[in-house]
Amino acid sequence: MSVNVAYGAKIAIVIDDIGYKTSDKQLLDMDAQLTYAVLPHTPLGFQYAQQATRNSRDVIIHLPMQANKDNRLLGKGALTHDMSKRQYQKTLLAALEDIPFAVGVNNHMGSLLTRQEQPMAWTMELLRQHNMFFLDSKTTKNSKVEQVATRYGVGSLERNVFLDHNRSHAAIEWQFKRLINVAKRDGSAIAIGHPYRETIEVLSRRLVELDKLGVELVPLSQLLDQETHLVETSDDRDTSTEQVSASDFAPQ
Ligand SMILES: [Zn+2]
Repeated sequence: MSVNVAYGAKIAIVIDDIGYKTSDKQLLDMDAQLTYAVLPHTPLGFQYAQQATRNSRDVIIHLPMQANKDNRLLGKGALTHDMSKRQYQKTLLAALEDIPFAVGVNNHMGSLLTRQEQPMAWTMELLRQHNMFFLDSKTTKNSKVEQVATRYGVGSLERNVFLDHNRSHAAIEWQFKRLINVAKRDGSAIAIGHPYRETIEVLSRRLVELDKLGVELVPLSQLLDQETHLVETSDDRDTSTEQVSASDFAPQ
């Protein structure tokens, strides 16, 4: 397929784990169309989600979902595999009520839960009722998110790059380059980062250069339609060249 995507490539950058630290505010105050993934039931989550919404930024709920390990990092309102449907949807609904500004969700951790059909079906059932989409953080390569979302008619997206799994400046710069390359190849790409000092520094440097590169930073929800469009029109799209490393599936 030869389509000129060098011009008009779009990226979305989602900042996870918002809600615990006053230093998150640096990212909220940035003059850029970042998307904020806010943890429910956190001291600052509601306030920051409200501020982001007032600034016309996308807010999504960063849903704590059970992982294969390190589940002490899940935080409040976690969804786990041993819950009944009633318990599960009640917990999910409480998160939606806590952050009422959200247009979608993504998973915090979730390497165990996102590969299980039943909890994903219960999730999509509620998301469809609330007209919300699911960004798969892709903490496992066996995720069922896209498959189950499609069945329920829920919009879904997939993270391409983790910016700061390794927190060194060099590593974050390298992942940012990957993000740009994927966007130029596919027309769009999605990165997830965290409210780390190093991430803020790299973003401050690189986001001002996007114009020059012909790349546009857009709210995450803007990529929903485009994704559908790409799937419909480019069945010969070659994804085999994408490098996948072990760190791509680390718990985040
Ligand atoms: Zn997270």
